[in-house]
Amino acid sequence: MTTDPLTTGATIGILGGGQLGRMLAVAAARLGFKTCVFEPGGDCPASHVSNFHFKADYEDEAALETFAAAVDVVTYEFENIPTSALDVLDRLGKPVRPGRAALRVSQDRLTEKAFLSNLGLTTAPFAAVDDKVDLAEAAEEIGLPAILKTRRFGYDGKGQARIATEADAEQALADMAGQPAILEGVVAFSHEVSVIGARNAAGDVACFDPGENVHEGGILRTTTVPARLSAAQRTDAVLLTGQILNKLDYVGVMGVELFVTAQGLVVNEIAPRVHNSGHWTQQGCAIDQFEQHIRAVAGWPLGDGSRYADVVMENLIGEDVERIPQIAKEAGASIHLYGKAEVKPGRKMGHVNRVTRG
Ligand code: AMP
Repeated sequence: MTTDPLTTGATIGILGGGQLGRMLAVAAARLGFKTCVFEPGGDCPASHVSNFHFKADYEDEAALETFAAAVDVVTYEFENIPTSALDVLDRLGKPVRPGRAALRVSQDRLTEKAFLSNLGLTTAPFAAVDDKVDLAEAAEEIGLPAILKTRRFGYDGKGQARIATEADAEQALADMAGQPAILEGVVAFSHEVSVIGARNAAGDVACFDPGENVHEGGILRTTTVPARLSAAQRTDAVLLTGQILNKLDYVGVMGVELFVTAQGLVVNEIAPRVHNSGHWTQQGCAIDQFEQHIRAVAGWPLGDGSRYADVVMENLIGEDVERIPQIAKEAGASIHLYGKAEVKPGRKMGHVNRVTRG
């Protein structure tokens, strides 16, 4: 499918008003577009830098209709958009990029794992768990230790528990309070990497150099480029990302999280949006992930995302943001703050990109 490219003054609608929406809106403005953010919360990071903010619930059909009438194309910055909102946009014939296939796959860990294995990619061993009986069978099949995760609405390590013993299993299942879950085998990885890939409406694919990720308490702490990967692993990482993008007929930027093991790369999960582990591209490439996404969504050619610097991205989480006065004096440190008024533990307040070799 090809689309007429959007031109100056066109409006891009963004579902979700967090920091990813904020950085997308800035990238859109640089290309001459207007942005309209749809986000139930007030004073959200994206609203500070967008032309319009629709402050309404995703279930508010009338608000969605007005939003749709005000924009040329819709994209999103988080994957848990209620299906009903997408139905309204479909009914109105408003293009949503990336499309629903990507959302359907990534909203449910079980569907996602099945999709990836059907593509011939390696994932952790997995089994669906709806009740105690399933859990006992899954634990038998996969072995312990394992990780129990909710199928939907998990992020930053939320909605998951490590299970080492049968007693842990019962507790973990009780904590899930009847939500459908998935049991995953623990992958013995040496480190974690991710690929930020892009595909446009013409079917062109471009991937950024893989980044190496360190998580703490389930939250991304740093991304370092270049990642420790052999040439063959790097090629594998990029090729499998292309396979995923093509299979979904994807338009936009996607984050693909991978475990590096002695046996090869194991796909952990995919995120149908710009990704925290791609923030390094703001200082490492001529075209960063945000511009790349806007280009794809706007029907433009993809830009040149080759990496020209070594970068370490550090997330500023909670009180980390109090270090800003010191960081502001550092050479080679680019500061990105999200404009969040209230500091909370675990809350992503901003990030710093440190160019270590330019
Ligand atoms: P997720 O929410 O699935 O991205 O998981 C958050 C983090 O938990 C990952 O980045 C890994 O560090 C760890 N993790 C998740 N799944 C597994 C697994 N199957 N084996 C080992 N570690 C995992």
